Amino acid sequence: MRQLWPSKQTWGYILALAGCWALAMIAGWTAIANRIDNYAYDWMFQLFPPQSSPPQSVILAIDDATYDAIGGVTGYRTALAEALDHLAPAGPQAVAVDLVLADAGEPAKNAGLEAAMRRTPNLVLAAEETDGRWIEPLRDFRQFAAAIGHDKADDQSPDGVTRVIPLERRAANQRYWALALEAFRLSRGEKILESPEDLQIGSETIPARRAKDQNRPLRVLYVENISRLSLKSALDNPALLSAVRGKTVFIGVTSLSATRDRVMTPVGEMAGPEVQAQVFETLARGRFLTDASDLSVLALCAAIAIAAGLVFGLLAGWPAYMSGAALLVAAHAAPLLMFQQGLVLPYFAPFATAWLAMSGAASYQHFVVRRELRQSQREKSRYQQTLQWVTHEMRTPLTAIQGSSELIGRYNLSEEKRKEIAQMINAESKRLARMIQTFLDMERLSDGQLDLRRETFPARDVVATCADRLKPLAERKNIRVSVDPEIKGELTGDRELVEYAVYNLMTNAVKYSPPDTEISIASQIEKEQLRLSVKDQGIGMDSKELKNIFQKFYRTKRAEASGEKGTGIGLSIVEQIVHHHGGKIEVTSEVGKGSCFTVVLPVHSRAARLPAVSV
Ligand code: ADP
Repeated sequence: MRQLWPSKQTWGYILALAGCWALAMIAGWTAIANRIDNYAYDWMFQLFPPQSSPPQSVILAIDDATYDAIGGVTGYRTALAEALDHLAPAGPQAVAVDLVLADAGEPAKNAGLEAAMRRTPNLVLAAEETDGRWIEPLRDFRQFAAAIGHDKADDQSPDGVTRVIPLERRAANQRYWALALEAFRLSRGEKILESPEDLQIGSETIPARRAKDQNRPLRVLYVENISRLSLKSALDNPALLSAVRGKTVFIGVTSLSATRDRVMTPVGEMAGPEVQAQVFETLARGRFLTDASDLSVLALCAAIAIAAGLVFGLLAGWPAYMSGAALLVAAHAAPLLMFQQGLVLPYFAPFATAWLAMSGAASYQHFVVRRELRQSQREKSRYQQTLQWVTHEMRTPLTAIQGSSELIGRYNLSEEKRKEIAQMINAESKRLARMIQTFLDMERLSDGQLDLRRETFPARDVVATCADRLKPLAERKNIRVSVDPEIKGELTGDRELVEYAVYNLMTNAVKYSPPDTEISIASQIEKEQLRLSVKDQGIGMDSKELKNIFQKFYRTKRAEASGEKGTGIGLSIVEQIVHHHGGKIEVTSEVGKGSCFTVVLPVHSRAARLPAVSV
């Protein structure tokens, strides 16, 4: 059956991609990312400028010529009064004065201005916030204003460029809407209905969310065709003011000599009243640029990371790289396409996600695939070695059988000799059969196809049988084998396999020990577990080698150099056998001093029920 749960490797891949995504998200919140997003915004703004429509506002500008003619700041009120006097009959929809008329001024000039204000319909005056305090127009002026609006540009912009205007501003328990917003709603004769997400003026919905620390920012769609009229020329020739009929007028200072109120915008430097007129035009056109929500940016970036993961997870080679490149292009193009649809996406986060996820996915796949290839090549060569060894090992009994049977057929041998040869043939063919059986069993055991026999047998018998079988081997190297005489406990499972495991540990101890040393087999019962250890005084292993010895076909360099034949599969089989019997295997070793392999198996009393073991 196919595994439904992702493999460890797949989890690793998913985690790596999630890491890339998280990293890109964190990077997206940094100041540098913010700066890049802003540059990209300005660039897109210039690439796709907003469509302009006939202007619905006029700026009556106190420009350099006016400034000089009226004698600077002191002349503002008289000039303004005169302008308002001429404006009223011209029939504007609203008049917004972007001058903070807060200082006491001269009574005579004030009186003239008040009289002019009284005649002005839909008059909006400006209030300014400084250090958390409102500087408001004089009460005498305020009484004639239909509304007061703030004239702040974006003072929170990190690079000082006004891309958004706070439509709302709160300070000292007083909230003012933006000057342009007040002028707009008065020109439409409507009220401002507010919800946390937007503002409603008549049938128009203005997307200006009241987020934390944000005073309903509105992206200003700056256009070129703003109409401007010099106040001086309007006063010199009041007929020019007929142009304001049905429009909203913004009166304010644009003069470079009185530079107090100049603002940087994505399309260049502007005076405060010009920005207010731009906000008004944005509102009047009714087409807005809205910012994508944080959640949708997170989701978009997650989708990019998933796409990168799928590209490199499912494809390989050129198709993967080509699809990856297409994904990169898409991640770069997404903010542009969305911008054209009126949605502002950050530029940095999607492209950082795309680049990080792509390089992460590509390198992960590259290294994993390479590792898998190396591993399978290693296994293949080890498997070939084993096959060679197995065929070589089988040839020995086969040659003996062949030779002996030929002897019987060819020569007239004595009864005793024939018997001896028959016995030898019998023993050798049994050995061959055992060898074949063991290999088949082991292959099936590792495939999980083998049903373990379930019997109960004394641990002592297993050790005794193995020690007997080991004797001739040990004697050949003059190795003394000392066996614990007090081995207790009953084991449950497949006796032959347990014997195979114990015998394998014992033969390894002999194989990897120099002559004239000692091997000791000890036992201990601890918490219903038998700890059976085989300790030698052999070549030993270092900690790096210890980590690998249970891998199929692994042999240490020292073992290879010892001249002892081996395949490196014995211990992997031992581990599987012990594991299938509900036990574990522990090893300690020191180079040149010896090793100690301890098999830990559950022990049962005779009365206990046998566990159902099947693999
Ligand atoms: P083999 O003995 O056929 O090489 P094993 O799987 O039984 O294969 O053992 C794997 C490797 O573990 C050996 O090649 C040897 O390097 C190391 N090893 C096992 N037992 C010992 C031991 N008692 N002393 C030192 N090295 C050992």
